Amino acid sequence: MDTVDHISKHFPMPSFRKNQKETIDKIEEAITSDYKVISLQAPTGSGKSAINFSVCGFVEKSYYTTPLHILLDQVVRDKFLLNLFKIVRGRDWYICLEKCSDCIRYEHCNEKNTGVARNCEHTCDIGPCQLQKEYKCGKSCFYKQARDDAIESQTALMSLAYNFTVKVTKGMWQKRDMLIIDEAHGVEKWILNFITLSRVFQDIKHADAPTTFDESLNLINKEVDIAASEVADLEEQQKSLGGLRPQDLKKYKRLVRFIDIVHVVTHDLESGKQWVHNVTKLPDNKVRVELKPLDISVWGKGLLLGKANRFLFSSGYIPRNMYSRIGFTEDEVAWIDVPSTFPVENRPIIGSMVGYISHKTMDTLRPRIIEVVNKILDKEKDIRGFIHCNSYKLANDILGNLTPENKPRISYNTSENRSYALENWLNNGKSNSVFVGVNMSEGIDLKDDLSRFQIIIKAPFPDMSDSYVKARMGLSDGKPWYDEQALMAILQAYGRCVRSESDWARTYILDWNIMRLINTYKNELPYWFVEAFKAAKSETFREGGINVKTMPQTTYVEL
Ligand code: SF4
Repeated sequence: MDTVDHISKHFPMPSFRKNQKETIDKIEEAITSDYKVISLQAPTGSGKSAINFSVCGFVEKSYYTTPLHILLDQVVRDKFLLNLFKIVRGRDWYICLEKCSDCIRYEHCNEKNTGVARNCEHTCDIGPCQLQKEYKCGKSCFYKQARDDAIESQTALMSLAYNFTVKVTKGMWQKRDMLIIDEAHGVEKWILNFITLSRVFQDIKHADAPTTFDESLNLINKEVDIAASEVADLEEQQKSLGGLRPQDLKKYKRLVRFIDIVHVVTHDLESGKQWVHNVTKLPDNKVRVELKPLDISVWGKGLLLGKANRFLFSSGYIPRNMYSRIGFTEDEVAWIDVPSTFPVENRPIIGSMVGYISHKTMDTLRPRIIEVVNKILDKEKDIRGFIHCNSYKLANDILGNLTPENKPRISYNTSENRSYALENWLNNGKSNSVFVGVNMSEGIDLKDDLSRFQIIIKAPFPDMSDSYVKARMGLSDGKPWYDEQALMAILQAYGRCVRSESDWARTYILDWNIMRLINTYKNELPYWFVEAFKAAKSETFREGGINVKTMPQTTYVEL
């Protein structure tokens, strides 16, 4: 009998799926070889959560994180994983019992027993203990209980943003053996969001909005003085009244964080680091000013390194260059690639192509985009589908120009009703309905008949009108960074519709830029995606008899 502990002995499911045991053995090999980072590229259906939780069982203590709460919910709902972790979320997720008995809904409220505040405004982030210094709470606090349980647990489950706020201090959170980040492809974006300084200024005429970094910084610095005096006033109120009103407490926390980040920016600038500004003109004479650091490697290190000895990043596709951009060196990373078990013929990519779609060519190509979308909808007239757009303008162009036969099939989201519109379509959409979604390539599950085809209209490159993107492009690794942002979103979108081995769906791609990207990065992309692209070529041959490589810009595949 093997008495040595192995990761596979901690596998939480009744049996292994194809490739899971081999993947787990490779992770163990990487740990034994003392790699600091394990990069696990594993497609939909590979059972990443079960693999990751096997690692959690093997090491003494770990943090298990994902960027989205919706993904934490999926873990919480899994009966095989349920007892393997303790979850903690931000204070605003928990009901403050000290306040909720004053609520008019108290008698009939179901949430007060669960502690989870979905519809409640009496949350722990504005509980009396936060409002008043030295407040003695007589209740058993749901937030503190969840946090303390997580601190004690072998595996603490939390959002990535919560993990960024974890401070390793004696008697509280400790440095753990492993930090797992699932759906890690967006980790750069999350680090950047966490440290971005963002401020909306009222009553600024758009003509007076800052145009240079120094002007933005001056505006922010003036605001710091105002913020500092508001903080002092609120602290005075706190002392004299014994506490703050909830809205004042929220304001206080916001101002303190703002001042802290300004100090960080000042320190960074003094030590020669480069920050970039971005200015957005909003309605009603408002202007949003954002400051972002150009190089986030030092921040990646700062937010992650002190938390664990080793890191496991898992996702369908993680760009090779990402690790150096967040502060790790190439020789610290072990790469593990898991093949897909989904038959390639169930998930073809079909190049129903239009041309190189860009800001410059959009006006010329718009009629052709609409024509091809209509043709695809005609062809797929009896099944449900999803159209991925990366701007509301493009979505509206399409919506406004569909044929009378196709128009009634469409549901779509606006910026205000994203979750509701999608949820409504998922639950109530007819058997041939089609959803037009803007920037919805992540976190949605369109399994089986929910969506049997999808259209990716345009390569979702970062917006070149954003000053951060422009400055980032100017760095020596700017071009691969730019391309990889689009590739991550494309692979995420591709993975939405085929969710199991028996599932099937067709993915139509209209933008030749996507084909160019796949050709350029084919040796770095996961093989399960590239092979679907190869299937795309043969599908294209069948559809239009045109070779992608020799296709002149004016030739189209006729559907
Ligand atoms: S400890 Fe604070 S947040 Fe928790 S129940 Fe008591 S007053 Fe509310």
